[in-house]
Amino acid sequence: MKVDNKYFCIICEGEKNIGYHLYHSFICSDCEKAMINTDVSDPSYQYYLKQLKKIYAPKITI
Ligand SMILES: [Zn+2]
Repeated sequence: MKVDNKYFCIICEGEKNIGYHLYHSFICSDCEKAMINTDVSDPSYQYYLKQLKKIYAPKITI
C-alpha cells in the first residue's frame, strides 16, 4: 500500500511526507536532523526555536 500523504512542516514550511507529528503539528525528518545537529550558539538555532514556539503556543479561538 502506497502512502502518499503530504504534511506541512512547521519548521521549513515545506510539504514533506517523512517526519513525525508533535501535538497538532508536523516536523519533517530533515528539520529534525538539522535541529539535532545545530549548536545552541548557532543563529539558526534561534530560528528553530521561533518556529517551535508555534507548536507550544496554540492559537486560542473562541
Ligand atoms: Zn521541515
